[in-house]
Amino acid sequence: MQVSENSHDDFLFIDDSDEDEILACSNNETWQVLIVDDDPEIHSVTQLALSDLVVLSRRLEYLHAYSGKDACRLIEEHDDIVLVLLDVVMETDDAGLNVVKHIRETLQRKDIRIVLRTGQPGYAPEESVIKEYDINDYKTKTELTRRKLVTTVFAAIRSFQQIATVNENRLGLEKIVSGATELSSQHSLSKYSQGVLLQLKTLIGGEISAVFCARGQGIIDNIDDLSFYVLAQIGFDENLINQKLNQLQNKQVSKQVKACFLQQKHEYLDDNLNLYVAKGDYRAVIHVRLSTTLTEIQTQLMNVFLTGVAVGYENVHLFKKLTNAAYKDSLTNLPNRLEFVRLLDDFAQNDFKNQVAALIDINHFSDINDALGQDIGNKLLSAVGQRMQSIDHECQFARVSADVFGIIGPADCLTPESLMALFHQPFRAGEQHLPINACFGLCTKEHAKSSGVQVLNQINIALNIAKKNRLEHFAYYHSDIEDQMQWRLNMIRQLRNDFSNNCLELWYQPQLSLTTGKVIGAEALLRWRTADGKFVSPAVFIPLAEYSGLIVEIGDWVISQACKQLKMLETSYADLSISVNVSIPQFRQESFVHNIINTITQHKIKPSKLELEITENILMDEPQIVIDALTKLKAQGISIALDDFGTGYSSLSYLQKLPLDRLKVDRAFVTDINKEGQSIIAETIINLGKKMQLKVIAEGIEEIEQQERLIELGCDEVQGFYYAKPMPSDEFINFLQKKS
Ligand code: C2E
Ligand code: MG
Ligand code: MG
Repeated sequence: MQVSENSHDDFLFIDDSDEDEILACSNNETWQVLIVDDDPEIHSVTQLALSDLVVLSRRLEYLHAYSGKDACRLIEEHDDIVLVLLDVVMETDDAGLNVVKHIRETLQRKDIRIVLRTGQPGYAPEESVIKEYDINDYKTKTELTRRKLVTTVFAAIRSFQQIATVNENRLGLEKIVSGATELSSQHSLSKYSQGVLLQLKTLIGGEISAVFCARGQGIIDNIDDLSFYVLAQIGFDENLINQKLNQLQNKQVSKQVKACFLQQKHEYLDDNLNLYVAKGDYRAVIHVRLSTTLTEIQTQLMNVFLTGVAVGYENVHLFKKLTNAAYKDSLTNLPNRLEFVRLLDDFAQNDFKNQVAALIDINHFSDINDALGQDIGNKLLSAVGQRMQSIDHECQFARVSADVFGIIGPADCLTPESLMALFHQPFRAGEQHLPINACFGLCTKEHAKSSGVQVLNQINIALNIAKKNRLEHFAYYHSDIEDQMQWRLNMIRQLRNDFSNNCLELWYQPQLSLTTGKVIGAEALLRWRTADGKFVSPAVFIPLAEYSGLIVEIGDWVISQACKQLKMLETSYADLSISVNVSIPQFRQESFVHNIINTITQHKIKPSKLELEITENILMDEPQIVIDALTKLKAQGISIALDDFGTGYSSLSYLQKLPLDRLKVDRAFVTDINKEGQSIIAETIINLGKKMQLKVIAEGIEEIEQQERLIELGCDEVQGFYYAKPMPSDEFINFLQKKS
């Protein structure tokens, strides 16, 4: 566009302003305005018209381009241009429009404001261009009086400012949102507080120093006082972390943090901030030293950010509480079972040699709890937990269950002796001094399997062996134990299977009267023939059936089989009785007595025909349960025999309490009965039985001499291979037929 062609230039920028926009400028900052026109005069006139103009407290500063191409270059070079006053027609008819495209499309600058100007109305761009490229204004140069120009520039810069504010807000919010996501993944207090400070730094955008402070008690592990502690810092000193704030040796900071804590609100000062973070029971103060004062927008964003920080701060504490609840024992503050398994995982997998993992089980803890109350029980456990930690500082400790503690540590200090030494002195629990002892299960690293759960199982196995051992109160795990266990488990599985497939049999061993020589009855004895046709001895499988509880079902079956057998014998051998052996787990069944009476009634058996054989060991665990049950059964007329008498540990005082009918002299006292001085026990038992008015039956008679000696001693009845071995039901009937 040629100057001469512009017939209205004379009218340009008629001074019609009342100068009221020209305000006092309080700021050194300026707005960069680019004037683009191929007519140099337009540049000077525009500049003149806008001279002294102050927009939003800033003066204008000008850049000049005389072609579209120049304009594009200048815009690329100066990213602080806020407004372009742009001639449309220059080197080409659409040179101005190309500049617009360059700004919006190539440079992606959406914020720069553009005012299009043209000398001739005929060159007006399409309306669509104005809309599409976000053009602030379109004016013919004739329209541009000074007043109109000022108004246009004003409006454009104000709109630039708004866009900039929105952008800054958006960027700030983006930072807050992405910061919040990052922070929310932090579950440790130190990482979280450090993360907050880093996010603060990003949000503020300049150099800052900051400390994140909170009162120690309840926040930092093992700190009990209420002084301010530093949880995180930037720009101060790394060594401050988890130390008291006064270590910073800056009274001003300490004072400000304390004041902020008391006033419970943020304090925004020009050169520092004290930000109050509080949610629920958790409070903290962040002290920030600024290099430049925050803008209003930054302050607003900071408020938003801090709301999120407080929520996160509470969450971190709640998470810690949850973790503590999940992994710590609240009574002793030691790791709990779950955590112990994790520690054992590490024990199993780390490279340290010569390590040991152990369990300590307090003996008879439940008695102490019952007798002295749970409070004393708890105090005792705390005391044990504490004393245990004196073993060695390298050990790790845990409370694994009610009265079981776990330890992992070096083999040279974690020995049975060092563990036992812990219990040499009584423990103080409240007013009480309690002498207690314990059992120990240990497993050395070389025997340990590869996972924590497996190792826990290993030390548990060792502990169970230690508990059963009457001589030593400790046991080390070794692999034979597990082979045995595996064998036992297999046997139990097989037994359960065979029992449910009706593969167990009840055999009968005749019992005879020594006075008449006649069969008086039989002892029912279980037989287990496995699939390969071999018999497994009851001495082997009965303990397994007892251990697994299977004996309860099997025992019921034995009693009902014996009743059936009695029913079969009733017509021809009405005087015969049958004894069955019973085990302790059967007594523990509440329905035990009821079931037996029921079975007898069902089979219409005379109760005195059935005899129950109990061993004296049965009395050891729960004598009262056994005595009560037997008394009820005896009241029904059922007969009771004490089996294997003399081999067990029971006290004679129980003998008096038992409602007995017969004593059985064990084979051990019969075998050598004819040897010099070897009949004394059999004799004593026989005499005792007589004194108590009980019948006495001797078992294990294999030779006639034994029978003769027993007759001399006054024994009533006998059972043994000499007369007959245990036999199946049909053979027993044959045996009876032959005998009669
Ligand atoms: P027990 O009750 O003392 O049974 C007597 C055991 O001595 C039987 O062994 C029997 O076969 C054996 N015996 C009898 N006379 C002689 C003899 O002259 N010489 C020798 N060497 N042994 C003789 P068995 O049948 O192997 O039973 C072993 C134990 O298994 C029984 O000892 C009993 O405690 C238990 N038992 C067997 N059946 C049952 C049952 O149905 N229930 C329960 N709970 N235990 C049972
Ligand atoms: Mg028996
Ligand atoms: Mg016996």
